Amino acid sequence: MSRRRPVHFPAPLDTGAYLLLMRVRAECTLDIGRLGRLHFARGNYIYIGSGMGGLHARVARHFRSDKKVKWHIDRLLGVAELSGAVLFPSQHRHECRLAQAVLAFPGARAVPGFGSSDCRCPGHLVFLGARPFGALLGRLDDRVQGAGCRVLGRAADSVVFGTPHPAPRTLSKEALH
Ligand SMILES: [Zn+2]
Repeated sequence: MSRRRPVHFPAPLDTGAYLLLMRVRAECTLDIGRLGRLHFARGNYIYIGSGMGGLHARVARHFRSDKKVKWHIDRLLGVAELSGAVLFPSQHRHECRLAQAVLAFPGARAVPGFGSSDCRCPGHLVFLGARPFGALLGRLDDRVQGAGCRVLGRAADSVVFGTPHPAPRTLSKEALH
């Protein structure tokens, strides 16, 4: 019996930026660490984050409710409904360019300082009011192509979507024939 040498396929790119699509159903005031007490109006919000140490795990963490509050966004997710996420795998840091692209959407407005303590962006949380996510993502496609990102999923409102986490595969050479 011959020993079969496994062929390792490269793992899919697991670094990059992401958008969280959220809805605040009732206006509220939250204590957001250094930012103090912030008022959140009812409506749709997009958070722009980065997962350079593991993109899929970072996004999956946001969908869990049993976590310690660590970032500004954890506080907001205590009350907001997480409708979906869009992943932008990349070896480079693109979250600030993404934030600018989202902020360029007509009527979008940054929540000042939220999630942007390490950069010069006005904020990485964007309030959209009643504007639907789908319209924004459609326009985002063109804007992010130049930054080396791709829109991997398209949002219909309140539909959870995203990219599944493909596990790195190990196959024997023979399995390829
Ligand atoms: Zn930024």
